[in-house]
Amino acid sequence: MSENRKITLYDTTLRDGTQSEDVNFTVVDKIRIAGHLADFGIDFIEGGWPGSNPRDMDFFRDVKKSSVPIDRITAFGSTRRARKKCEDDEIIMALLDAGVPNITIFGKTWDLHVREALKISLEENLELIADTVSFLKKRADKVFYDAEHFFDGYKANAEYALKTLITARDAGADTVILCETNGGAMPEEIFNITGAVKDVLGDFPFGIHTHNDGEMAVANAVTGVRRGAVHVQGTVNGYGERCGNANLCSIIPNLQIKYGYECVPAENLKKLKDLSRFVDELGNIKPDTHQPYVGNSAFAHKGGVHVSAILKDPRTYEHIDPALVGNTQRVLLSDMSGKSNLIYKAKEFGLDIESRDDTVKELLNRLKEMENRGFQFEGAEASFELLIRKAMGTLPNFFDLISYRVIDEKNFSCGTPLAEATVMLSVNGITEHTAATGNGPVNALDSAVRKALAHFYPVIKDMVLVDFKVRILSSQDGTEATTRVLMESTDGIDTWGTVGVAENIIDASYQALADSILYKLMKDKK
Ligand SMILES: [Zn+2]
Repeated sequence: MSENRKITLYDTTLRDGTQSEDVNFTVVDKIRIAGHLADFGIDFIEGGWPGSNPRDMDFFRDVKKSSVPIDRITAFGSTRRARKKCEDDEIIMALLDAGVPNITIFGKTWDLHVREALKISLEENLELIADTVSFLKKRADKVFYDAEHFFDGYKANAEYALKTLITARDAGADTVILCETNGGAMPEEIFNITGAVKDVLGDFPFGIHTHNDGEMAVANAVTGVRRGAVHVQGTVNGYGERCGNANLCSIIPNLQIKYGYECVPAENLKKLKDLSRFVDELGNIKPDTHQPYVGNSAFAHKGGVHVSAILKDPRTYEHIDPALVGNTQRVLLSDMSGKSNLIYKAKEFGLDIESRDDTVKELLNRLKEMENRGFQFEGAEASFELLIRKAMGTLPNFFDLISYRVIDEKNFSCGTPLAEATVMLSVNGITEHTAATGNGPVNALDSAVRKALAHFYPVIKDMVLVDFKVRILSSQDGTEATTRVLMESTDGIDTWGTVGVAENIIDASYQALADSILYKLMKDKK
């Protein structure tokens, strides 16, 4: 095993990652991501393929004006075309026009591709590699050579595959990278072939670039490193064509936490979850909650037995301390199977119910009954906190609803739908009766309730509804199905979620709305 513990991280989210069919970054997105990657401690950031599309050229132009350290940026391209000089090949010249210090080029390894795709002799392909690498090395700080289809090429013709690497090395490449382009290799193939490469290259640095078609990308990348690769390529969250590239958000903690390699400073590793989220956010991709290390569910516990065990010692059901990667332990509210979950949750709200056996028993029964009706408190922690406070008898009675009525009208001659709600409620024995209009029944009801209360509690003017989700439960009943409404509200300082369940969508909405207002009033009173 190599004694070199420092691993060079090479990110290709902005190039290979954008090959993913659902990922699309603007130039500004790409620059912001590059900044985050650099802050996190990624050594090299592949910005794109200049000349392949105008957006990539814009990136290279603008990144130089940004605060992103330019010595981390690399431009990607291919070896020169056959029967052309480098200086006459516009693809090669576009790489230099990008004006960044590092250049990565890929070349053919597999004899089949040389003969069938390039339609040149094996010898000519070696000349392309040698020529291009040495031409670029004279004009760039670093030249990385990606050996495309290295593992398939090796299996077809090992001697030739190795020759392409040696050619690139001898022409001045700083690192040669073994690419598992088709993504179907298994870890022992990577183990054997990477070992053979190490025997030939000795201390010359080489890297690994894997794809996830057999869901082995991370395992293959880690195996490559275990066999001597000192440079790893991948993308944040495993973005990439087909099934994606090797996921750096898993490779990095695996190498660093499990094997003790040095990838990024330990302090930076704590920003891993943030990095993952940031890239999903800019890619407009819903984060995968089950993603290892960084997913919201990665350290979430639901079963009562598990929860009581992790409360005693987190190591019982957690493979690492979630804080190492910036994640947190979570105990789920739904499927409230045990006392421990409830006590844990109450503690999070600063409520001690451990000593109050009757309250705990009553709450557990109530929760079971509510869950049967379709309540789910995941994402509705404010409703859950109110429930505990109510059971403890510590929730003030801010208001009582007496009645509401909603009229929903659509006039086909004028077209604009109109809803009107009237609300009657009482605050400290004073009855308030108000009406309001809205663009829909829930909006009208929301306005009417606030209008009725604003006079007693002016602070509710600060809160707004930011999200409203409706889920139909037991849809086999058609329109008689139960409706669950999840609301998210904010007052600019905090954001909280509430839930309502009823057969009637307005009623379910009212419950979530009333909880949302109650929570705000309770929060401000604290
Ligand atoms: Zn790739």
